[in-house]
Amino acid sequence: MNIILMGLPGAGKGTQASEIVKKFPIPHISTGDMFRKAIKDKTDLGKKAESYMDRGELVPDEVTVGIVKERISEDDAKKGFLLDGFPRTIDQAEALNSIMQELDREIDAVINIEVPEEELMNRLTGRRICEKCGTTYHLVFNPPKVEGVCDLDGGKLYQREDDNPETVANRLEVNVKQSKPIITYYQDKGVLRNIDGSRDIDEVTKDVINILENL
Ligand code: ADP
Ligand code: ADP
Repeated sequence: MNIILMGLPGAGKGTQASEIVKKFPIPHISTGDMFRKAIKDKTDLGKKAESYMDRGELVPDEVTVGIVKERISEDDAKKGFLLDGFPRTIDQAEALNSIMQELDREIDAVINIEVPEEELMNRLTGRRICEKCGTTYHLVFNPPKVEGVCDLDGGKLYQREDDNPETVANRLEVNVKQSKPIITYYQDKGVLRNIDGSRDIDEVTKDVINILENL
């Protein structure tokens, strides 16, 4: 089961991904998470990615494609994967296509979570994340039981540096422009599944799981 989760920043990709991996034994591969870990660990990859991420721009394709290729070739991804945040450019989509051909595999579904742009600023600026386990919350839409504390493990919640209004505005602009041709690309391949992501988290999850169970 080789799945791509698409959607603008804040659409709910990470939130839905954590539900999907509870049901299906495939790794959640988020390019954003991989870059953030590399920055934290101060690796070469982190150094390459950091300035782009701070500005809300895309990390260059040659860097991004390389890490995805490596990751989906690992053992735990052989039975399938859930890609989140990749591809984000048509060149990335084409590179992924070549990688899949080399591996003799195919993308089974591209789940595109659609949310009106005007809702995304609120979602992103209110997003909070557990520093221990990475669980995502929202100050208003999905608050933890105790303010600032993760329900699952008591970890402290933090705000991502790029979730400030200026960087969010730039990320939305960059991603709106890039996402349209990718949507058309996967529509033409017959694997695109659009989902209304403006509803409650649980309702969106039901639809996503339903699609995956019926693949
Ligand atoms: P993405 O990975 O697409 O950037 P996230 O899953 O991190 O998005 O969600 C962005 C923010 O919006 C988080 O704070 C999350 O709790 C919240 N959120 C996710 N899905 C919904 C939803 N259906 N309704 C309201 N808020 C949501
Ligand atoms: P969101 O979906 O909320 O924007 P991500 O965690 O997916 O957040 O991405 C954060 C940042 O990481 C992006 O703004 C970009 O700089 C970088 N990034 C993530 N995925 C890609 C990608 N496929 N191509 C280029 N840059 C990426």
